[in-house]
Amino acid sequence: MTVTPAPAGTPVLDGGELISTSPATGAEVGRFPVAGEAEVAAAVAAARDSAIWWRGLGYAGRRARLGAWRAMIATRSAELCELINHETGKPAADAQIEVLTTVEHLSWSARRAKKVLGPRRVPAGMIMPNQAATLEYEPLGVVGVIGPWNYPVLTPMGSIAYALAAGNAVVFKPSEYSPAVGQWLADRFAEAVPGPAVLQAVHGMGETGAALCRSGVGKISFTGSTRTGKQVMAACAETLTPVLMECGGKDVLIVDADADLTAAADAALWGGMANAGQTCVGVERVYALAPVYDKFVEVLTARAAQLTPEQVGVTTMPSQLDVIRRHIADALDRGGRAVFGGLESVRAPHADPVILVDVPEDAAAVQEETFGPTLTVAKVRDLDEAVHLANGTPYGLGATVFSKSRGMEIARRLRSGMVAINGIVSFAGVAALPFGGVGDSGFGRIHGDDGLREFSRAKSIARARFAPLVPILSFDRTAKTDALLGKLIRLRYGRK
Ligand code: NDP
Repeated sequence: MTVTPAPAGTPVLDGGELISTSPATGAEVGRFPVAGEAEVAAAVAAARDSAIWWRGLGYAGRRARLGAWRAMIATRSAELCELINHETGKPAADAQIEVLTTVEHLSWSARRAKKVLGPRRVPAGMIMPNQAATLEYEPLGVVGVIGPWNYPVLTPMGSIAYALAAGNAVVFKPSEYSPAVGQWLADRFAEAVPGPAVLQAVHGMGETGAALCRSGVGKISFTGSTRTGKQVMAACAETLTPVLMECGGKDVLIVDADADLTAAADAALWGGMANAGQTCVGVERVYALAPVYDKFVEVLTARAAQLTPEQVGVTTMPSQLDVIRRHIADALDRGGRAVFGGLESVRAPHADPVILVDVPEDAAAVQEETFGPTLTVAKVRDLDEAVHLANGTPYGLGATVFSKSRGMEIARRLRSGMVAINGIVSFAGVAALPFGGVGDSGFGRIHGDDGLREFSRAKSIARARFAPLVPILSFDRTAKTDALLGKLIRLRYGRK
């Protein structure tokens, strides 16, 4: 019997080790011990102890230590970019943008945490005037982070940085396609922040993630496909573990009649093809208004012809090539046309850019996440049709609008968590803006103030400053008090 070797980039289990390989060359990138249920439980138990120390440091203590970690990542960023390139095939220059965005989030969340989560007085209101009301947010304890491989630093760090800033310890399960990058982050944390293990990485396949879901952590922050997200939620339901779901997308770009077509084409191309299309908020569908459609397609295809394979990068997960091929074949079978590339562009181990037009709206290439360097472009008669079709998939992660006069109006009508106007994925680089989706793209938010609150729970404290003038929560209440309260209800709240 002949054994077919796994394609380059496919992780391999060897005894108790996970071997990560380069998708470009097949060379071994690293070996990591596989964590089973017992090892995951041990990591979570250790994290529970570390969480007490970490929380006790307070906001200033954590900020200083997160700053040391951030500085170490920044100083050694070239090494990290090389590793990302080696393990996932992402061009090192694109990896640098990922690292830059990550250190910005790490810096912002550490600085911002006290303001958002620290104690603050809130008005006690009319019926409890004797109370001092304090709202503060406490950490959840241990947060489990399950990450994908496509942005192996930025994506998990959107949870890790914010969870740590909020005072939690973290157990991180990187994708089996990017364990070396995940371990690098944990190792640098251990160097920059000596002491208890506040950030640990555990490795393995889906079973390791499943064990983390059942380990009794305070929350699971999951980033990955919608299909796996449902499994994660089901497992977490067994222990009533809360979940944050950052799932897939089918993001749209709308080109309005007054748009800058060169800028829109550039954004569509980068959003669709960068990182070989493996971006959760990458562009997969374009709707261009009729008056500019022909010109837009012309500019887009002309620019696509200038792209080099090095700019596009490689397909990290070899099995994804089958999905890309299926979507293109289905689109062509159903009357679509390839105006750039075609079925022949998908040739293992890579997929080259493909631009499709005239694809029916119910085709897989329009409805399902392709996660490859493909774009569908459709002509729409007006803005209403553009918005209607844009909102026509079960996903709702990010979106892009190119319009000189109606950007905000269109953005507000789109069913998505984030929108970039006259830019591309710009929202991800603004630390103060929450990031997350609706529908099949998930729920909950990383980044921004909401991202900090996501890894905390509200603690409400009402402290009596003096005895109430009218005791209403007491058996000492008199008939006169009851009459007074009845009057208050009618007078204060009875008017329209
Ligand atoms: P997967 O859903 O295949 O995997 C995500 C993570 O879940 C991996 O670490 C995986 O481990 C783990 N996992 C697999 N099975 C289980 C299980 N039963 N229980 C617990 N964990 C499990 O996604 P990909 O890694 O392929 O990532 C690509 C997807 O991620 C795309 O759909 C993309 O859109 C989405 N994504 C969403 C983002 C967002 O912010 N919304 C950002 C980035 C990506 P292993 O790899 O070992 O199987």
